Amino acid sequence: MAQYGVPPTPDNFSVWFYYVSGGSLTLKKTIDILIANKRKFDSATNRDLYITYVNPHSSTSGDFPEQLRSVIDSAKDFLATAISDNRTQMETLDEVSAQCKPTTDPRPIIEMLVKELSHATTRSTALEENFLQTTKDLDQIKDSLKQAEEHSNTDALTGLANRRSLEAFLRAAQITAMEAGTPLSILMIDIDHFKKFNDSYGHQVGDQVLRLVSRVLLESVRECDLAARYGGEELMAILPGASLDACAEAAERLRRRIAEARLTRRTTGEEISSVTVSIGVAQFRMGETADGMIERCDRALYQAKRQGRNRTVRESAEEEIAA
Ligand code: GH3
Ligand code: MG
Ligand code: MG
Repeated sequence: MAQYGVPPTPDNFSVWFYYVSGGSLTLKKTIDILIANKRKFDSATNRDLYITYVNPHSSTSGDFPEQLRSVIDSAKDFLATAISDNRTQMETLDEVSAQCKPTTDPRPIIEMLVKELSHATTRSTALEENFLQTTKDLDQIKDSLKQAEEHSNTDALTGLANRRSLEAFLRAAQITAMEAGTPLSILMIDIDHFKKFNDSYGHQVGDQVLRLVSRVLLESVRECDLAARYGGEELMAILPGASLDACAEAAERLRRRIAEARLTRRTTGEEISSVTVSIGVAQFRMGETADGMIERCDRALYQAKRQGRNRTVRESAEEEIAA
């Protein structure tokens, strides 16, 4: 935090605790993008990170402050004891050294030193135990933080990033694209005739189809990309550094993989008719809002549906020229 000039407030501390503990992949990606791009962690950015990734109203994170405070208090006691012990020992040694005269009988001094050393050993054992316990408590907090973070940034059904997380990631990716002059593209996926799956096989199979498409999407994108559930049966991927061509190619690979996937009904083993998706792709234009780019991508997706589904359509050339 000191390296990037982030003030050590409790909110910022929580954000960077997540970052260092590796609890959130999306937070890590977002901060890494900001760092790579030498962005200033100003108060607006710090607040944005806090609101997006440390949800103060999340039910699972409710007992963190209490838990964390108690560990911090115990660590403080632990350090205070260690410091005061050191001071006492130094004073004792000073006394011993003051008593050391060539004529003094060394036995009482040796006895005193042995007593002091034995005290020190007992106390350091107690401190070590305390240290181990504190480390254990911190590990527990780390796990709880990770869980709460996953709840607030991940879509429960698909395991993909949720809408909130997507928006934060997109904001950071847009900044990088503008400052570094690198391309940024997105693709939007909508499952074809999804209602049919629900109607023919029931909602649970519908959910299974949605999870399958999400898994293929997640497996098809790079580490640095973000795969998210945009809403209902609409998914999205953000590809930093990808041109429209590269993004369209990725979309086509993904579309084919989904069309080739076979899904069987868990209960009966019966094969479910093949799943296809339509995909729209768009590339970010410097200075535009995220909504503008998403709207163009959505229109391309609509064209894919109109042209017969199970296809990828890029944002239209006319729109590109008109823009
Ligand atoms: P197309 O996109 O090809 O035009 O047809 P569609 O049947 O997929 O289109 P439409 O958008 O009309 O229907 C989407 C359906 O997706 C309606 C809704 O009930 C269903 N749906 C949305 N979210 C979920 C979900 O989480 N689980 C399930 N099982 N169904 C969902
Ligand atoms: Mg839809
Ligand atoms: Mg659909």
